[in-house]
Amino acid sequence: IASRLAGFGTTIFTEMSALAEQTGAINLGQGFPDEDGPRAVLEAAHAAIRDGHNQYAPLPGVPALREAIAEHQQRFYGIELDPATQVQVTMGATEAIAAAILALAEPGDDVLAFDPSYDSYSAAAKMTGANFVPIPLNPPDFTFDELKATPNARILLVNSPHNPTGRVFTREELQRIADFVIEHDLIAITDEVYEHLVFDGLEHIPLSTLPGMAERTLSISSLGKTFSVTGWKVGWATGPAPLVAAVRTAKQFLTFAGATPFQHAGAAALRLPTHFYTDFAAELQAKRDHLCDALSQFTVARPQGTYFANVDVGADATEFARELPHRAGVVAIPTAVFSTDRERLKPYLRFAFCKRLSVIDEAAARLHALE
Ligand code: PMP
Ligand code: GLN
Repeated sequence: IASRLAGFGTTIFTEMSALAEQTGAINLGQGFPDEDGPRAVLEAAHAAIRDGHNQYAPLPGVPALREAIAEHQQRFYGIELDPATQVQVTMGATEAIAAAILALAEPGDDVLAFDPSYDSYSAAAKMTGANFVPIPLNPPDFTFDELKATPNARILLVNSPHNPTGRVFTREELQRIADFVIEHDLIAITDEVYEHLVFDGLEHIPLSTLPGMAERTLSISSLGKTFSVTGWKVGWATGPAPLVAAVRTAKQFLTFAGATPFQHAGAAALRLPTHFYTDFAAELQAKRDHLCDALSQFTVARPQGTYFANVDVGADATEFARELPHRAGVVAIPTAVFSTDRERLKPYLRFAFCKRLSVIDEAAARLHALE
């Protein structure tokens, strides 16, 4: 195996989902919903298959989806995009992230990202030959200190709402990020896959909408979280035409194109009325509250967005997580696995609450029965 891939191993998601299967534990580890997305969206995929949309999509993505993505950005954020040059469809956000880093970073460049972070960021940086430079988010509230650039800094990755912490960055925090990106002439890559999973009346603010940021931000999102179809792997990158063209150049040799019928269904999904989006967030907020209330034996901060709540178990959470399926029949993921600094996040355990209330109840009952 090439040295670029040293230490990759298998992802925590594979490991923990396998452990859940083996032990029959309730899987609150890997973040995926246990109910499928809206009927109309599923039907649209069936219809697309029946209607013969089963061959390669055009490299940029099917036109109907690119138009729907542009409309979505306009409807929710007032962002104007040309669907021909400013939208690239990808195989999930994951491919968009990898293609973007491959396309925009030179070997030896520094890719900065808030830490803990989604595990594909550092892997994509390393596969590019770039360095991954973590910027700590500090518990218990997961805020960041003064931002400092490294000499080879080229890209700043910003994920809000943030996996695994559940943070939604405030406008003030985003302004500090924007000032930093502009001062050091960086490119911002935003991972906004949880853009609609925001609670308590808070607002998701795309970094690209801050003054001076549209021309230096590549924005990434996908269908999986918003429409409960994580297996469809339809994502996109939007932004300035040169940045989108760079992603397209890399993407054409990664997968070229894919998931044609799901791209068609994605167009239908993104055009759902606004109340679908707000209702779904409210439903998920109720699940969050259900889980957080049930975990009262631990210290738990209510997350502002995403699928995830982090609890302080008051011990080494990695050991705790390893024993938990056997002791209690529940799987969760130690937050530290998303970090380069495992000590800082040692007592935190990440629970996914994107599950039916009955499943959350059962998991809570098992956790309460713990000695
Ligand atoms: N970014 C973050 C922060 C995520 O949590 C996920 C979910 N797995 C992804 C990207 C991947 O998105 P997709 O499934 O669209 O590739
Ligand atoms: N994003 C999901 C999580 O953080 C899972 C992604 C994956 O399985 N790669 O749990």
